[in-house]
Amino acid sequence: MLDTTAADPSSDAARPALLPGLDGGSHSSATLYRRLLETSPDAVLVVDGTGRILFANQQAEELFAYSVDELLGQSVEMLVPQRLRAGHAIHRAQYATAPHPRSMGSGLALFGQRRNGAEFPVEISLSPMTIEGQTLFSANIRDITERRRNESDLRRLQAQLLSAVESIQGAFALFDAADRLVVCNSAYRQIIARLLPDEVVGRGFGELIDASIASGTFDLNDTTPADLARRWSEYHANPSGSLEAKMSSGEHLRIIERRTADGGVVATMWDMTDEVGREDELRNAHALAEAASAAKTEFLASMSHELRTPLNAILGFAQLLQRDKKTPLTTRQQERVDHVLRGGEHLLRLIDDVLDLARIEAGRVLISLEPVNLGDVLTEVKDTLDPMATRTNVALEIDSIEPPARQVLADRTRLSQILMNFGSNAIKYGRSGGKARFCVERHEGIARISVIDDGMGIALEKQAVIFQPFQRAGQEAGPIEGTGIGLVITKRLAELMHGSVGFESAEGRGSCFWIELPIHRLSQVDTEAPMLNESLNESTLCGREGPRYCIVYIEDNPSNIAFMQDLLADFERVELLTAPNAEIGIELVRARRPDIVIMDINLPGMSGFEATRKLAAWPETRGVPVIALSAAAMGRDASRLAGAGFYRYLTKPVKVDELTRVLDELLAQAENPTH
Ligand code: ADP
Repeated sequence: MLDTTAADPSSDAARPALLPGLDGGSHSSATLYRRLLETSPDAVLVVDGTGRILFANQQAEELFAYSVDELLGQSVEMLVPQRLRAGHAIHRAQYATAPHPRSMGSGLALFGQRRNGAEFPVEISLSPMTIEGQTLFSANIRDITERRRNESDLRRLQAQLLSAVESIQGAFALFDAADRLVVCNSAYRQIIARLLPDEVVGRGFGELIDASIASGTFDLNDTTPADLARRWSEYHANPSGSLEAKMSSGEHLRIIERRTADGGVVATMWDMTDEVGREDELRNAHALAEAASAAKTEFLASMSHELRTPLNAILGFAQLLQRDKKTPLTTRQQERVDHVLRGGEHLLRLIDDVLDLARIEAGRVLISLEPVNLGDVLTEVKDTLDPMATRTNVALEIDSIEPPARQVLADRTRLSQILMNFGSNAIKYGRSGGKARFCVERHEGIARISVIDDGMGIALEKQAVIFQPFQRAGQEAGPIEGTGIGLVITKRLAELMHGSVGFESAEGRGSCFWIELPIHRLSQVDTEAPMLNESLNESTLCGREGPRYCIVYIEDNPSNIAFMQDLLADFERVELLTAPNAEIGIELVRARRPDIVIMDINLPGMSGFEATRKLAAWPETRGVPVIALSAAAMGRDASRLAGAGFYRYLTKPVKVDELTRVLDELLAQAENPTH
């Protein structure tokens, strides 16, 4: 606490002073002056020409921690730090010789000293005054410790900010709302203002980019300076995304600018040379991979054609040999032909499987998900597999299916392919006298269709690899035929249908393979399986009596033509005309109006598609049904075939029964036009 003499400043009588006319009690103008000094927010001292303190206000007492009594009559130097006192006395004496008012903030670094010796920075204003003929000096003293601290905090903050900005790896700049540069790092300066002689802070954005473009910083190969400046200014005015620029030195710059809340712009520039290089490499690698994949698929498609054409001849003629009634085969020959057929069929399966897998891997398989009735599909699969099961003495069964699990969302053909693979494996790797059964369980919205056998099972150590291509889990050298691709295809197809596959197996005890698929929710009512036509055991074309028919076969491969001629030779009422290409073929059709056209797709010159389109366009040939017969079974062709207006699409090698069934069906319609 200060001396108690420091009383209420509003009381005129309170404060002692050595000042003439400033003593308490007087009502002169000096009294008013004293009151003024007293109410000043600053500490005020009045000293005479020798530096003797004549008056000190209450703020002065508080600031220097002396009572007014201790101050009065003392030299003002007592309030100056020891080290500065001598200098201060000289300055004061000089000032007294030519006194003039001096305001605060004169730029001098001044210090005061408290009673306890503590120094503090001050600002002082001086005003000379004359009281009763004597020149006195009034000093207003302000403690600026707080301000100095704030200033130094600010300086430290600025230094931190600048060092942070400097340490940014890219170039950084901040523009104010008037588009003047406020701060930037040296990377920015290097790019934008390399050749500008003076300080860049304070310069306008437009001026900076013009200077930088003019100094040849940027590669202007595909643009003009004006165009680059325009694009950059437009981006700067409304920044979003990024702007790319190439520098003359070869680097690739990515410029990213964003508006600040106060209307300014933060600009950054990043060297993206490596990334752009990597992106280019990636793009090239991707394009190469795509091209390689397309080439592989093309290769497989043409290979398939090349392999299927001779296979067509092998399998076709072998079948004809078997069925030849005029010169029946001996038992030994029959056995040998059986070998040829089995080998050919295995090869065909292998080609089909490899192609199927390649198509799936290339993403070329189209899956169409629709509600599928499990009862129907399982019955079809069982019917197809029954002969095989009978041959190997395995009993094939379907457990009854709970109604809510009857319909799943799946691609019907592909689901049946998967079940066929599981089923045929259950038979192949089953036990003679054993059983294989299909069963359906439901779990929440999922149906699990399992194929359970009591066959040889799979050894534990082989189980991890069976969903990988060509892995036959120890069956490689065994007598059971297989390709080791079926399960891989199965897994991929199930995934394409948003389903999954799995299995459990115990060696010597049997296996259970399953596929899980989403149940079709709206399928509460089970639709009845459609009535299957009675299978045609004997073709209606057999026998001499009845109407006569004409078939045109458009095919360029002589062995295929020979095969068809042999096949139809048994049907005496059918006349077969052949054409080696589409151009001749369609003219032949036009001239002869046959009952059926059998069309190869891959023909020299005009394709089978084109020829079929032409036939459909001519009024006289429009009604003639066309059966497509092609070795090309790749996805692209398959989808084109679907929309090409064929009555049916059959793949080579020709399955004799399938072809005769289609011919029978068509010719029956020809006999009965109202059908
Ligand atoms: P494969 O053409 O060899 O039958 P898959 O891909 O269909 O090819 O099956 C791969 C392997 O998994 C088979 O070679 C066989 O070793 C094993 N496997 C598949 N299903 C069964 C099963 N039901 N019982 C025992 N082993 C099986």
